[in-house]
Amino acid sequence: MCGIIGYIGDRNAVPILIEGLKRLEYRGYDSAGIGLIRRKRLDVHKKEGKIASLESALPEKLSGKPGIAHTRWATHGGVNDTNAHPQVSSDGKVAVVHNGIIDNYCKLKKKLLKEGFGFQSETDTEVISNLVASNYNGDPEEAVQKSISQLEGTYGLVFLFTDHPDLLVGARNGSPLIVGVGDKEMLLASDVNAIVAHTRQIFHIEDRETVFLDKRSYKTINTKNSVVAKEIEQVDLELAEIEKGDFPHFMLKEIFEQPDAVVRSFGGGGRLLPDFGTAKLGGLNIEKQEFFDINRIVTIGMGTAYYAAMIGAHLLENMARLPATAEQAAELRYRNVIVHKDALFFAVSQSGETLDTLAAMREIQNRGGRVLGICNAAGSTIARESDGGVFIHAGPEISVASTKAFTSQITVFLLLALMIGRMKNIPVSLGKNYIDELWAIPDKIHRILDRCEEIRQLADKYRSSNHFLFMARGINYPVALEGALKLKEISYIHAEGFSAGDFKHGPIALVSEETPALFIAVKGETFEKVLGNMEEIKARKGRIITIANVDDERLRELSDDLFLVPETDELLSPLLTVIPLQLFAYYTAVALKKDVDQPRNLAKTVTVE
Ligand code: GLU
Repeated sequence: MCGIIGYIGDRNAVPILIEGLKRLEYRGYDSAGIGLIRRKRLDVHKKEGKIASLESALPEKLSGKPGIAHTRWATHGGVNDTNAHPQVSSDGKVAVVHNGIIDNYCKLKKKLLKEGFGFQSETDTEVISNLVASNYNGDPEEAVQKSISQLEGTYGLVFLFTDHPDLLVGARNGSPLIVGVGDKEMLLASDVNAIVAHTRQIFHIEDRETVFLDKRSYKTINTKNSVVAKEIEQVDLELAEIEKGDFPHFMLKEIFEQPDAVVRSFGGGGRLLPDFGTAKLGGLNIEKQEFFDINRIVTIGMGTAYYAAMIGAHLLENMARLPATAEQAAELRYRNVIVHKDALFFAVSQSGETLDTLAAMREIQNRGGRVLGICNAAGSTIARESDGGVFIHAGPEISVASTKAFTSQITVFLLLALMIGRMKNIPVSLGKNYIDELWAIPDKIHRILDRCEEIRQLADKYRSSNHFLFMARGINYPVALEGALKLKEISYIHAEGFSAGDFKHGPIALVSEETPALFIAVKGETFEKVLGNMEEIKARKGRIITIANVDDERLRELSDDLFLVPETDELLSPLLTVIPLQLFAYYTAVALKKDVDQPRNLAKTVTVE
C-alpha cells in the first residue's frame, strides 16, 4: 500500500518522480505529493486526489534535485492536502515519505510537542520527520539511526535533509524498499515498477536496515551501525509488461493474459513430466523423500490469495491425500498456532509483501515451522524469507483487483498436489490425465474470453441489482467467494459468496426477486446437490444466473441465464469457472462507470494491518 520513490542524480527529479508515481499509483491513490531540494531549500507540493491532480497543480517548469514522492493510502488522518506526504519537520530540516503505520506515534507526539515541535497534519508520519529533526545535530546518519530505534510499527521511509542536498536516506521495517543503481544516479522505491525505466540494477533493503545514497554510491547499515554488503541483481522486466497497451484497463488486459499466464505457471511444460504423469518443481528446497514425512498442510493467504489457498488445500487433500486446511493469515498470526514438526505451510501472496501473510509466515518460522512461498513477485520479502517455494510467473499484476494471479496460484497448487499425489496414491494413468487436462486449459480459457460479449450483456442486464448472492459447492465454493469479492471490489455492489450447502442455514432469508443468485454448477461430486439448492431458490422466486460446464435440461429450466464453460475435470474447473465471474465483475463496473483499475478505498499490495 502506498507508493514511495526518491531520486538523487544530476537530472531534474520532477518528471522522474511523477512518472514513478504513476507507475505506483495502483498501490494507493487518495493523495500524492513531492518534495524537492531547490536552491538549497525544501520545496513541497501535495494534492488530494490522483497523481493527475498533483501534476496539474505543480508550477510550470518546476525543477529540483534530489527529490522524494509519495502516493498515499491513508491510515491515520483524513484524505486531504495537509495529510498527504511528504511530511516536513516543523523546523523545515527533514522531509519524509512513509509507507506503513507507526504504532507508538501518540507517545512520541506528546514528547515532541513538549520539546516545541509543531504538528500540522493528523498523520502518524509527521512524528517521524519531527523525531528525526529532534535527534538531528548535523549528522543525518546519527539522527535517523537514533530515531528508528525509537519507532514502533511498520515503515518504508525515504528522507530528504535540507542541509544535505547530496543525500537521500531510506529505512525499512516491514514495508518494501528497493534501491535502483543507475549511471551517476540512484533511486529508492517501494516497487521495482517505479524505477525500471531508469535502471535494471537493483538491490533490496531488508528490515531494520538504513541506506544512505548519493548519486554515485550507497551504504547500507543495520541497527548496530555495521555496514551490510549488498549484491546487485538484474531485474528482468519489460516496460510493456507494466503498460496497458491497447486495453482500456489493466484488469481486462490481465484477464485476457490468463491463457499465457497459466502456461507460464506450468513452465510451458517445463514443470511437467508427462511420461511419469507428474510435476517437478525446483526451488522447493525439500528433498522429495521428505514429503513422505509430511502429515499436514496449512495454506495461508488474504483476500483472493486466501481463496486460492482454499482451493490449494482442497487439491492437496484430494490428490496428495494429506490433511490440508486454509487459514487467513491475519487470524493465524495472532493465534497460539500449533506448529507440528511434520506440518508444511504455504504462504500465498501475489506481491510477496502482504503484511499479514508475511507476519504469519514469520510467526510459524519462529516456532520452528517450515513455510514455502507461492508468490508472483521475484525478490519480494516472502519469496526471500520463505524456506523455499514456487513462483507463479503470472507476470506483473497492476490491476488492484487480482485476476491472473488467482488462476496461476491455482495452477501451481495443482502441480504441487499432482507431484505429492503421484508419490502416494495417484497412478501414472490418472497423473497423465491431469496433465492432459491442464494442457487443454489455456485454450479453453481462450474460448471463454472469445465470448466476453455475452458476459458484457449479462452484466448490463443485472447491473441495477443492489445485492448479489454467489453460490457453489466443493472446489468451486472458493470461486463463489472470489466472484463475489471481484464484484464488490470494483462495482461496489453488495455481493456475498456462500457454500450452496450452507445457504439454507440462514442466508436463504436474503432470497428475493431483487437479489439475483449466481450459481456455479460443474459436473462431478456435488452437481445434483447444486441443482437441489437452485430449486430452493427458484421456489422462493429468486432469479438465477448459472455458470456451468454441463448442458443439462433441468439446469436450463432453473436458470434465468446460463453461461456454459468448457468441460474439464472437476478439480481443474475453478480455472475456467472463475473467468466469466471476473468478466462479469469487470463489465458491471464499466457499465456503472466505476474506476475499474483504482477502485475506491482499495490499494494493491496490502502492507499495513
Ligand atoms: N500511515 C501513513 C498515513 O496515513 C502512511 C500511509 C501509507 O502507507 O500510505 O499517512
